[in-house]
Parts: sequence; structure tokens; C-alpha cells
Amino acid sequence: MADRKQTKQQLLAEVATLRHHLAALQTARIEAERIVETVREPLLVLTADLHIISANAAFYHTFHVTPEETEHQLLYELGTGQWDIPALRRLLEEVLPTDAPVRDFEVRHTFPTIGQKVMLLNARRIPHDGSAPRILLAIEDITERWRAARLLQQRSEWFTVTLTSIGDAVIATDTQAVVTFMNPEAERLTGWPSQEALGRDITEVLILCSEETRQVVENPVLRVLRTGIVAGLGNHTLLLSRDGREIPIADSGAPIRGTDGTLHGVVMVFRDITERAVLEGNLLRAKDAAEAANRAKSEFLATMSHELRTPLSVIIGYTELMLEGTFGAVTAGESRILQRVRENAVELLDLITAMLDVSRLEAGRLPVHVQEEWLPALIEEVKTETQEVWERTQLALVIQAADSFPPLYTDPAKLKVVLKNLLRNAVKFTPQGSITVQWQSWEGGVAIQVTDTGIGIPADALTLIFEPFRQVETEGRGTQHGTGLGLYITKRLVELLGGTVEVESAVGKGSTFRVWVPVGSAPT
Ligand code: ADP
Repeated sequence: MADRKQTKQQLLAEVATLRHHLAALQTARIEAERIVETVREPLLVLTADLHIISANAAFYHTFHVTPEETEHQLLYELGTGQWDIPALRRLLEEVLPTDAPVRDFEVRHTFPTIGQKVMLLNARRIPHDGSAPRILLAIEDITERWRAARLLQQRSEWFTVTLTSIGDAVIATDTQAVVTFMNPEAERLTGWPSQEALGRDITEVLILCSEETRQVVENPVLRVLRTGIVAGLGNHTLLLSRDGREIPIADSGAPIRGTDGTLHGVVMVFRDITERAVLEGNLLRAKDAAEAANRAKSEFLATMSHELRTPLSVIIGYTELMLEGTFGAVTAGESRILQRVRENAVELLDLITAMLDVSRLEAGRLPVHVQEEWLPALIEEVKTETQEVWERTQLALVIQAADSFPPLYTDPAKLKVVLKNLLRNAVKFTPQGSITVQWQSWEGGVAIQVTDTGIGIPADALTLIFEPFRQVETEGRGTQHGTGLGLYITKRLVELLGGTVEVESAVGKGSTFRVWVPVGSAPT
């Protein structure tokens, strides 16, 4: 009796323990199920012959399918058969017999509803009721990660191709000044092959010194790391290559920063400027030589002109005296010859004077003497001084003056040369008709116009005539004496006075030269 009672109590105790275990098991199962439901990774539980027993919410959500379409189906027959991948099938079939888990098997597939997905599959055997083991298949969606990695790879390929093909040398370092990248041009200049340079300190690979002192200068990478700002080398920096070459370079180093501003390293870009340095040197020497030659030419011309003018003036003077009969009567024949001597000598003198002006102008040695001038008086002087020119022509000279006129502050001698040149040209190129001189106030200055009814200038020659030694050569212009320097000097003188000169012309009708000079201000 006592035994039976004891046995019953024992049984009751065991039942209680069992119940307790059962309850614990149930709780554990519910918890496990909850966990399975909560994980964001799609999970499938499969039988040994790969029938789907269950799937979690993440699976349905990710692949846009329902439990009805999924449960009890054969994995390979799911949907449009997208899981029917021979390699996966082989792997899964091995999971149960060998107990070898499938790890990170990458599957790329385009699903009709959700498009292309890249997934990592992991599978392992889970013990189940002893007899029929199951397979847990976890599917990790790595599409985004895969895309980002691909983009990163494309970018890095793009950078590598770009940096490899550009002509500039590029070296990058990390924040410890350790070389992390070098392009072929940097390899060529430094003499360090990339494989050897990577991992070394920048000061070992890129040694720079000053061209003048030959002292090693602070490496710009260190400066950028120290200051965090873009740094360039001073001028005249030499790179000392590993094989002993000295290469003049120009460069700049810039910090590499992340989007949050943290420093990741430094990139140095530099280039070999040997050719540029040689060219600059040559150019400088050529410029000095040209300037010296130009100075010598101007000085020579000035001296020569001066020396030539004196004897010419003597020739002209004596010829005129002979023409006037000072040394006895001259016959008509002799007079003609003397006149030709005089004309040619005067022309030569004009040419020499013009040359002298040009050389002074070009040497910048023509000082401007500003004084107060009343334009009508100046024009009157010009008229008187060109009297002999008028006397030889039948041309009418018309002078049209503005009514009132403010005084002008300018260099009258130069303005007179300008006006005389224009008048002489007008007379020279006008067989008949008239020449009109007009002036008026115009935009803070005075505009003086010389208009003729002459042969005119073709449009394509309008700018050329202001260049030295340029004369218009067209039929019917006859042979006019001249140097081709008159308008060049005119333009340069007007510019010296702060003014402008322009021309309008019609062939066969005549030309108008318009000079504008500023009113100026009284000299202090
Ligand atoms: P030149 O000593 O030959 O006159 P310029 O420099 O004064 O030299 O003039 C250059 C050329 O411009 C002249 O040879 C002439 O062909 C042309 N030219 C200048 N002024 C006139 C004008 N008023 N009418 C027609 N042609 C002119």
C-alpha cells in the first residue's frame, strides 16, 4: 500500500516535471517562432527533398509571395522556377548527407515582380524529431550592397584609368604621410616603381630641394598634413629622383577630406617643367637681345638722322640761293635742274626728319610739352606754314570753325605736325576740288576734320595706311612721292596726346581724316 502510494506520488511528481518541461519547451518554441518571424532576413525551412515546410514573414515580404503559393511546394518549382539553380541544388543536396552547411552562396536572379536581386544563401541542417532532419535556408538580400560595391569599383577603375593616363604626376598618401598611390608619371619622375614606393614615407620617395640653395625643402605633403590647407611649392623647386636626376617641377598638394571634413590623406600633383624652364630662359635671353638691338637701332638712327640733316640743309640753302640768282643769273634749263635738286633734297630731308621722329617715338623719347592753345590760332599757323603747298595747286581751302571755343591744353607743336601731315596728304591725293578743315567740341575734347575731294582710299587699305612704310598701290594713283611714314607718325603723335585718329573714304570721291584730342588740363 505504502509502495503504491509512493509510486503514485513519484508518478505525479514526474508528470509535474514533464508538464513543466513541456511548458518550457512550448515557451521556447513560441520564442523561436517569434524570433524567426522578427528577423529581417527571409528564412525557409525545407525537408530533405527540398519541399518548403514554412517561410517567415520576411520571405513573403521580400519576394512578394503568399503562404499559399509557397508552403508544401518544391523549392525548385517556386514561382517561375527561379530557385532552380543547379549549383544551389547540388549544395543543398549535400547539406543533409554530409552535414556541411552552405555558406554565403551568391545568387543573382531577375524576379518578374521585384526585378534583379543579388542574394547570399546560407543553409544548415536542423535536427528535427530525430528521424527527419530539416534544412534552414537563410536568404540575405545584398542587392544594395552589391550595387554600391560595383559603383565603387567602377569609380575606382575610372580614377585609376584617368590618373594613369594624365600627363601630371600624382602621389597620394594617408594621414601618416605614407604613400598609398602613385601614377606612372610619378613613377617616372621620382624613379620609384609603385610597388616599392607604396607603404613608404613620402619623404623617402619625393625629395625636393631649392634650385638656388640646393637645400632640401619641407615636403608639401607634411605641410598640408600640418596645416590642413592646400600648399604649393615656391618657384624654382627641383625634384631629386632616385636615379640622381634633378628635375624642375611645379606642383600643388591638397588635403583629401571625407564628406564630414575629416582628413584622409594628401594628394600631390606635380609636373616636369624642364621644357618650360628652358623655353622661359631662351625667351628671356631673346627678349633682352631684341631690346638691346632695338635700342641700338634707335640710337643709330637718331645719330645718323642728325648727321644727315645738317649737310642736307646746306645743300637746300645753297640751291635756293642759286635759284634766286645770288651767285649770278641762271638759265631756264639750269633753273629746272636746280629745282629738281631742291625738291629731291627736301624730300630726303622730310624722310630723315620722319625717321628721326619715328625712332624717338619708338624709343619713348618724345616729351610732351603741354600749354594753353587757342585752336583757331593754331589752324591759322598751320595754314601759313603750308603756304608753299597751296600755292602749287588750284585747290580751294575751306576752313569752317565752330563759333565759340574753350582753350585747349595740349602740345601744339605735335598737333601742328599732325594737321600738316593730313593737309599735305589731302593736297597730294586730290587732283582737283577742295580741302575742308572743320573743328568742333566733341566729347570732352575737340574733333578736327580734314576732308578732301580726292582719289579716296580702298576699304581694305583703311587700317594699313597707319602702319609704317605702307602706301596704297593702285592704278590711277600716279606716282606720288612720300615715305609711307606720315600717317604712322600722325597716329602715334595723336595717341601721345591722348587722342584718336580715324578715316572714312570712298574711292573716287574723297577722304575724311578725323582727329580727336582731349581738352586736357592746365599744366601745374
Ligand atoms: P605717304 O608719305 O606715302 O603719304 P602716309 O603714311 O602719309 O605716307 O600715307 C600712306 C598712304 O595712305 C599714302 O601713300 C596714300 O596711298 C594713302 N593716303 C593718305 N592720305 C590720303 C588721302 N587724303 N587720300 C588718298 N589717299 C591717302
